[in-house]
Amino acid sequence: MKEIHSIRSNDIAIKRAEKVMPGGVSSPVRAFRSVKGNPAFIVKAEGANIYDIEGREYIDYVMSFGPLILGHAHPSLTLQLIRQAIRGTSYGAPTLYEVELAERIIESHPATDWVRFVNSGTEAVMSAIRLARGITKRDRIVKFDGCYHGHADSLLVKAGSGLATFGIASSAGVPHQVAKDTSVLPLGDLEQFKQLMDEKGEEVAAVIIEGVPANMGLFPQEKRYMQELERISQENGSLFILDEVITGFRIGNGGASQYYELSPDLVTFGKVIGGGLPIGAYGGKKEYMGHIAPLGNVYQAGTLSGNPLAITAGIATLEAIEQEPNFYAKLQKQTNELVERIEEVFQKYSFPLQTKSIASLFWLALQTVPANKPSEIKRVAVESYSHLHFEMMKEGIYAPPSAYEVWFMSAAHTEDIRELTLQKLEQAVENYFARKKR
Ligand SMILES: *Cc1c(COP(=O)(O)O)cnc(C)c1O
Repeated sequence: MKEIHSIRSNDIAIKRAEKVMPGGVSSPVRAFRSVKGNPAFIVKAEGANIYDIEGREYIDYVMSFGPLILGHAHPSLTLQLIRQAIRGTSYGAPTLYEVELAERIIESHPATDWVRFVNSGTEAVMSAIRLARGITKRDRIVKFDGCYHGHADSLLVKAGSGLATFGIASSAGVPHQVAKDTSVLPLGDLEQFKQLMDEKGEEVAAVIIEGVPANMGLFPQEKRYMQELERISQENGSLFILDEVITGFRIGNGGASQYYELSPDLVTFGKVIGGGLPIGAYGGKKEYMGHIAPLGNVYQAGTLSGNPLAITAGIATLEAIEQEPNFYAKLQKQTNELVERIEEVFQKYSFPLQTKSIASLFWLALQTVPANKPSEIKRVAVESYSHLHFEMMKEGIYAPPSAYEVWFMSAAHTEDIRELTLQKLEQAVENYFARKKR
């Protein structure tokens, strides 16, 4: 390969990228459109650090948007990947690695009897929806405002204000025929859910919700709400799909299923189960998963599904978690402490801040009033964040490139790293106010 990194300026790199790729990126938030400045082009990453082509080092709180719970380039994971690459990268045939990872998923998700591997979270959710429709012979999908389930047509639909809205796509190119079969409800409102199920229940194939809504702010729901959604869905003959693409093996070994004591009919996975390689999976009860080809008449396939490199990275991740006593509890404690210290920094400058956190996820809303659902995120919070993001990048904190995105901690965010983060953050906040005055 020729020397790719001869360009040493992010500003030049994005111009070159924009000539050959829409927005210069492979996924939209990476383009930094909702924050100031150009994206950093990355050359390498290790532990909690990520490095760009300008030679800058950042402390990374994006962590590839979730998969990297061990940090970048974890030594044992990397070694196992190299070993696997030497044995071949794809076979198009079954391996015992897949069986091992499926067994691990099933063990920690008791409601799941069978698992099918795919290549992304989007694909997992899309397939679970097809399965639910195939089983129930119904078309309607119920989702919740602000929940992201990947970019499959039937889920790229969002709510208007107030009552449930039907079929307003949040992307061009989603057929009206598809969008009209998706109902979107406000998050956390059980009455509206009951009402919808009373009126349209017979049409509803599946009700889907994020294990913890974490794609438009961070909004952990009440246990009773989650359990009622499940109970009412099942009573109605609709499949309850818990989208654990972020929460699976992130908020604990048993994910949100365990956290909320749920028994979802279908569960979707991605991110952590692939340890930073492309993966997705969906699983569920035998009576449902038995409808998938080759056993049943719901078709779903994939050239690279169950890819040995991705599966190896997933197994290596889960092994490393298992080997560290109290892995999740420690990470949660460290996250809570960091968030408290971040609050102190903001207080010192009278900078408005609301925080949310669960396990190793946290979210900052730069506003004076609490936000308890996506519609309560203020414009000023988004605006302030875009400026603060610019200052954080300058100080070496690689923060999520949108006010709506959550921050991810990893096991590689050591005490030293966290202290350094707070110093850099304080400097960024100071610069933010200095710039504002000018
Ligand atoms: C990231 C995400 C997806 C989509 O996964 P991709 O691998 O990006 O396709 C689906 N659901 C949730 C909850 C996610 O956070």
